[in-house]
Amino acid sequence: MTTVIEGCAVATVDASGTEYQSGHVVVSDGVITAVGPGPAPARTDAVHVDAAGCLATPGLVNTHHHLYQWATRAVSVDDGLFTWLKTLYPIWAGINEPIVGAAARAGLARLALTGCTTSTDHHYVFPREGGDVLGATISAAADVGLRFHPTRGSMDLSVKDGGLPPDSVVQPLDAVLAAVDEAVSRWHDPSPGAMVRIAAAPCSPFSVTRDLMRESASQARELGIRLHTHLAETHDEDEYCREKFGMTPVEYLSDVDWLGPDVWLAHGVHLSDADVVTLAGAGTGVAHCPSSNARLGSGIAPVAALLEAGGPLGLGVDGAASQENGGLSEELHQALFAARLRYGPSGLTARDALRIGTIGGARCLGRQDEIGSLEVGKRADIALWRVDGPFHSDIVDPIDALVYGSPPPLARLFVEGRAIVIEDELQTLDVEAAGADLRHAARQLARSS
Ligand code: ZN
Repeated sequence: MTTVIEGCAVATVDASGTEYQSGHVVVSDGVITAVGPGPAPARTDAVHVDAAGCLATPGLVNTHHHLYQWATRAVSVDDGLFTWLKTLYPIWAGINEPIVGAAARAGLARLALTGCTTSTDHHYVFPREGGDVLGATISAAADVGLRFHPTRGSMDLSVKDGGLPPDSVVQPLDAVLAAVDEAVSRWHDPSPGAMVRIAAAPCSPFSVTRDLMRESASQARELGIRLHTHLAETHDEDEYCREKFGMTPVEYLSDVDWLGPDVWLAHGVHLSDADVVTLAGAGTGVAHCPSSNARLGSGIAPVAALLEAGGPLGLGVDGAASQENGGLSEELHQALFAARLRYGPSGLTARDALRIGTIGGARCLGRQDEIGSLEVGKRADIALWRVDGPFHSDIVDPIDALVYGSPPPLARLFVEGRAIVIEDELQTLDVEAAGADLRHAARQLARSS
């Protein structure tokens, strides 16, 4: 099946930043077969999408999330990370498969409706009686139709051993490694165009032992999967690492053999200039989560320095308990504003923000050859933003309209060539029903804690 999208502005986000004021994108069997200026070559066997008034960009890539947190939004609203976590851990201990499924469907629907075509999820809470919570997120992604990079996360350092989480939410090291093996054999698809790929993701320096960090790294490299964790999010974490390990978070990462091109890190707020160079030199990626960092008052990541250093840099919404909005298009805007608060008006451009949100995220997930730009041979993950409406059409540059303006309506969202959003309507599941399920799940969880 072939789809011809034409009459729209096109931002390819290829290596030279090619853009067309009016152009076309042709898609066959889930793959982009033509991109260029003007109308597409005439053909009669295709579905035509008249995209006049739209901007075509690569689908956005979300590089950090905790979908289950949709069931615990707006809790501990005035606290920083450590107090917020200590308040929420006991509540999260009550999650189970249906609650996580409802949270994930709502969270992924929100992502799709804000232009996201690929999302990761960092799931690290596995209550003993919780059922198949990781499977619930994977089913939800299939229901919504997003490309999905779930991580099998873990925590094995509880309060009694000097960590932050309570005993009820940690697992022994051997159980974690066995679960990662199982997740990879059940779901990981290394083939081109894969809709599901698994990564391993011990949670953070203050909830995971040094042994689990090391063992996870060697296991992931044996299995050929990527590694993800939280790092350098807050001053508290920096102090914890200096006190507990006698080193900074990035030095600790190096010590446990986590510096490499197969690793991406959430946050990277408190990085020194030397840290930035170290991460980029290793090819280690950073998932920048500006709204979450603002909500928790964690700080502003050194985005301009990270971009200049050239390592992979993507955007993340982070879990909805620390970023209740949960939309990804908003993060383009937030990234631009956060960078300018730190660096002044030259901190980031609208095109930089779009690059981070697309090909930058693809690099974090090791998929830059398949997604993240509109180029012939890449998977057809495409967002069509309507920029001819009352709140955008006065802005001459459509990328400025997307990033500086409010998130524009989404005329189409294609994942692997399939239109899962049409004119702001999700085609794959009933959003009202998903919202009702989420409300029920959130109340049930609140009652059980
Ligand atoms: Zn997080």
